[in-house]
Amino acid sequence: MTRSRQPQTLRQPITIQGRGLHGNRPCQVTIRPVEQPTGLRFLHGPTGIEIPAKADLVGDLSLATTLVKDGLRFGTVEHLLSALMGLEIEHALIEVDSEELPILDGSATPWVEALSQVGTQSLPGLRRFIKVLRPVEVKAPNKWIRVSPHSGLRLRYTIDFDHPAIGRQSRELSLTPEKYRRELASARTFCMDKDIEYMRSKGLALGGSLENAVVFSAQGPLNETLRFEDEAVRHKMLDLVGDLALLGAPLLGLVEAHAAGHALHVALAKALLADTDAWTWQDADAASPRRHAPLPMHAGFNPAPALA
Ligand SMILES: [Zn+2]
Repeated sequence: MTRSRQPQTLRQPITIQGRGLHGNRPCQVTIRPVEQPTGLRFLHGPTGIEIPAKADLVGDLSLATTLVKDGLRFGTVEHLLSALMGLEIEHALIEVDSEELPILDGSATPWVEALSQVGTQSLPGLRRFIKVLRPVEVKAPNKWIRVSPHSGLRLRYTIDFDHPAIGRQSRELSLTPEKYRRELASARTFCMDKDIEYMRSKGLALGGSLENAVVFSAQGPLNETLRFEDEAVRHKMLDLVGDLALLGAPLLGLVEAHAAGHALHVALAKALLADTDAWTWQDADAASPRRHAPLPMHAGFNPAPALA
């Protein structure tokens, strides 16, 4: 598949209904095409308040990514943002009638299938990337996340849970829509059985069930099967793709994460945007449909093909 050099939106509106994971309330989402490349924006139908998917509007990161503006909150935005960015649909208006997006099956697959059914259309101009020029890192005790220069978007993720059913898992991939569909989209959100009571006491995960999450006990998953042996780390990568949408543009860089989560993902997005010497804008190379413009060679740095 030739990847588009032009900004993409979806071809027709799609509507999906479901219930929120944390509030367990019904909600309906309609994703609409836009006519100009204006990024990914949420619109709360009842109030008309619009919230762009931007890192500086993230208000809450307890177990999901929540955008806050003018007193309005949109929770659990990361799986839909992940599906859109994974498919390179970087411009759309997402109309929501509730304050939490539906959890569906806990993965990005329902979004990916609906978006794939209608397909994409090109918008005027060229895709515009945030190209990383030098490393930016955010650290916390026993966890860290870093972005460094790379010709495409490459993700390297490690989780290390002190839990016998998960343990240490690592995965690395260069993101393309095909790889996103095949390797990340269907990985479901997960939690530990021992955490459920605590989350419920905080009013979280009220809509959670084995229909929309993998629940690990010490003996293994309570669900009948896993979709991948390392489904947990794949879901973390899915979340990372969604949280990187909050940069406001697709990224050209290698993102390495160790034991990270939404808070560190968003902290990295904010740290990168704030360090304006660490990145630059780059338009998709008009001359070559399969590769981005060549990166300058640095000693010790070998740019990998964008579609490795
Ligand atoms: Zn998630």
